[in-house]
Amino acid sequence: MAETVFTKIIRGELPCHKVYEDDKVLAFLDINPLCEGHVLVIPKEEAATLDKLSDESAAAIGRVLPRLSRAVLAATGASEFNVLENNGPGAHQAVFHVHFHIIPKYRDGKGLGIGWKTQSLDKTRAQELARAIADRVKG
Ligand code: AMP
Repeated sequence: MAETVFTKIIRGELPCHKVYEDDKVLAFLDINPLCEGHVLVIPKEEAATLDKLSDESAAAIGRVLPRLSRAVLAATGASEFNVLENNGPGAHQAVFHVHFHIIPKYRDGKGLGIGWKTQSLDKTRAQELARAIADRVKG
């Protein structure tokens, strides 16, 4: 994948407001936050989208996400939050290096706004889809 601004941050070539680092993960404040306390959590591994990420990096991120979320809540006073991870330009990804957004949701509505238009689930199609996905999950 092409190198992004996040690789430069990992290498220390660009500054960031760091909140956490270990050998596989870095977390820092988003430069254009949706609201106060908006944090990005990234793997040090270069993968453009989540489906390209190794199990090791995914596990390392999964291990610290709850702890980082608790820290964001404690530091901001928010009691609710969203975790968002975009994959592909059509899905609102702008930086092509995996990153999880932790976005506090405040009582005044500040935070992530979501338009969530649901549809009904067709039973026959659901069976086909569940089977198709299950058949493709690799161990
Ligand atoms: P996404 O739309 O999910 O790709 O989000 C990319 C995020 O990266 C945006 O929220 C940007 O504000 C953030 N971002 C881009 N460059 C930087 C940077 N140098 N430091 C911190 N956050 C950044």
